[in-house]
Amino acid sequence: MRLGILGGSFDPIHYGHLVAAEETRAALKLDRVLFVPTAASPFKMGRVRSPPEDRFRMAEMAVASNPRFAVSRIEIDRPPPSYTVETLRLLSASCEADLYFIVGEDAARDIALWKEPQEIVRLARLAVVTRPGLEINIEEIAPWLPLERVHSVHIPQLEISSTDLRLRIATGRSIKYQLPECVEAYIAERGLYR
Ligand code: ATP
Ligand code: MG
Repeated sequence: MRLGILGGSFDPIHYGHLVAAEETRAALKLDRVLFVPTAASPFKMGRVRSPPEDRFRMAEMAVASNPRFAVSRIEIDRPPPSYTVETLRLLSASCEADLYFIVGEDAARDIALWKEPQEIVRLARLAVVTRPGLEINIEEIAPWLPLERVHSVHIPQLEISSTDLRLRIATGRSIKYQLPECVEAYIAERGLYR
């Protein structure tokens, strides 16, 4: 069993996340992808807008139609901050699967700043997905990374970010076709990001 893990604040989840998960699943022949919303990322303390429960619900709605996708409470049920290394330790202890941690190039660029990056790469292979406006050289950024544990995955480039979506909502602009309609409806109903 090969299990992909996509961590993020998903504040809100959008098609960039879903395409990243699906393209990596196909490229690396993963059996499943687990979306893991953070309680609060160490890099985003105080900057995550919506409560974990809303971010979790939106992620669940977004993946509901895909039997290979699921959302985990593993980080939102732990007190923040959410350290990836702890999550991977818990997951690797609780399942037999080969783990693939999926990250966009923007997140991968900061890998040296993460808690125990070497341990992260020991616990999981890294799948680095392309993100618009960035072209990183992971060998240069982290020469200590065992390259056989790192996979680059080219995905269709969607210039969508949660930051931009939050700004659009706050200023009354359209977010249509950038995230699933059920998520858009949930945001409107709950009055998120206004
Ligand atoms: P924010 O703007 O709040 O940081 P975001 O859109 O970057 O939100 P995150 O929840 O921070 O979303 O991202 C979770 C993971 O998904 C990260 O590894 C990030 O690089 C990746 N990701 C987010 N958006 C895209 C996208 N459009 N294409 C590819 N990967 C993406
Ligand atoms: Mg981000």
